[in-house]
Amino acid sequence: AHAIPNWHHLARDLKIDGRAFINGRRADARESATFACHSPIDGRLLANVARCTGADVDAAVAAARAAFEDRRWASVAPAKRKKTLIKFADLMLQHAPELALLETLDMGKPIRYARSVDVQLAQNCIRWYGEAVDKIYDEIAPAPEEALALITREPVGVVAAIIPWNYPMLMAAWKIAPALAAGNSVVLKPSEKAPLTSLRMAELALEAGIPEGVFNVLPGYGNEAGAALALHMDVDCIGFTGSTRTGKQIVQMAGQSNLKRAWTELGGKSANIVCADCPDLDAAVSAAIGSIYFNQGESCNAPSRLFVEASIKDAFIEKALAMMPQYAPGDPLDESTVMGAIVDEVQLRTVMGYIDSGKSAGAKLLHGGAQTRIDTGGYYVEPTLFDEVRHDMQIAREEIFGPVLSVLSFTDVHEAVRQANDTPYGLHAAVWTANISKAITVSRALRAGTVHVNQYDNDDITVPFGGYKQSGNGRDKSLHAFDKYTELKTTWIQV
Ligand code: NAD
Repeated sequence: AHAIPNWHHLARDLKIDGRAFINGRRADARESATFACHSPIDGRLLANVARCTGADVDAAVAAARAAFEDRRWASVAPAKRKKTLIKFADLMLQHAPELALLETLDMGKPIRYARSVDVQLAQNCIRWYGEAVDKIYDEIAPAPEEALALITREPVGVVAAIIPWNYPMLMAAWKIAPALAAGNSVVLKPSEKAPLTSLRMAELALEAGIPEGVFNVLPGYGNEAGAALALHMDVDCIGFTGSTRTGKQIVQMAGQSNLKRAWTELGGKSANIVCADCPDLDAAVSAAIGSIYFNQGESCNAPSRLFVEASIKDAFIEKALAMMPQYAPGDPLDESTVMGAIVDEVQLRTVMGYIDSGKSAGAKLLHGGAQTRIDTGGYYVEPTLFDEVRHDMQIAREEIFGPVLSVLSFTDVHEAVRQANDTPYGLHAAVWTANISKAITVSRALRAGTVHVNQYDNDDITVPFGGYKQSGNGRDKSLHAFDKYTELKTTWIQV
């Protein structure tokens, strides 16, 4: 119901504080080092951000440990902890325009989605876990009559959260909300490519009443602040979201230090299988196109491999091509833009490299394939559609993390399922068919943490999100996320 602000004006007047947030206060990095945070929209300098290293990690972990040991948050009555988290969510809503703007400037997504999707989902996640706090009961085991066996959940202690840049606010919320709701202290390291909203969230959490030291944010590089957290002997648990390559390093560092619990949410190469008896071809086309180009293709669960049954492929592609113009990249600060900027030049080069590899492997480029809006100084790639992609091509095997869709065709659905599963990843998958037993058989056979039948968009905080195989070992969202951030304790009481 609020009037939509003039984003360019707001952006010009925005004050950005790039200092770390440790023990309830803003702080420069111990070494006073910073890194420049540029906007991918037009290359402008947004802020010099604290480049935290081992000494800052030590300080933040010590603050988190002290807060945990004196129980200043863990022992707060559930009803009060709930109120505080809900206040935190309310403050995010109050500051929604500022948070959305920071997110768009920092990583390039269209402002219309930053404000209507990212802020909304992030605050809702914090609200949902806040509301859950006073509705969770512990258990009593069926023990012999002369004893009572209590099974209770306790917070693990100090949780480190390391997150990527594609949905910075939402990924922060998916980690910190269940961890804080369970009574832990948290040290969050956002991506060096998009650290700004996490820092602002820490200020709002403090304002809501989350005590000093309970929620700390350390911007910095992965191989500095990130590795120091993963190796830290006083971090009890690490919640990681990012690439499979880094996830392997995280698990290794957890193992070689104190065997901290290491939860990983990693990459994907999700398969979307559209059968000839698909109940609604228009819906299938708009879901396939909408989901791959949303967020510039920078989504872990993007359906980047499209398997279409040969008999409907031409009809499918004709409808898909008709949709492409609406995804032309535009100014992310313009409310009508649906495709924004790629996060930085490195990622742009990666995406363009995959497009070249598709072309030289013999895939047929039907739309896009070029960098665009170059005169803005930002990083934009046209929505790209490849037909005649073979399962063994690099663009069909590796996660591109950009607006590139690969179309493969099939005549036997079992072969499509085999190829869909022939990947190290297992995040999402989909099947479109009006045949109920085919839908059930295929969805059972697909090795993925989430399978969609006749849609791709359904999502809710109430369901777990995570992967099979090398897409990770944990689940974010839903009550199951509490399993990651709590220990089970058995207490035997002699009667
Ligand atoms: P990345 O692995 O490069 O970085 C992720 C985070 O890890 C960043 O904060 C980075 O600084 C840090 N990091 C990097 N090297 C590190 C090291 N040696 N030690 C400790 N920390 C280190 O990934 P990215 O490019 O930021 O994100 C894109 C990836 O994230 C994609 O693969 C995508 O699929 C995945 N992703 C997965 C999910 C999910 O829920 N499964 C959600 C979003 C993104």
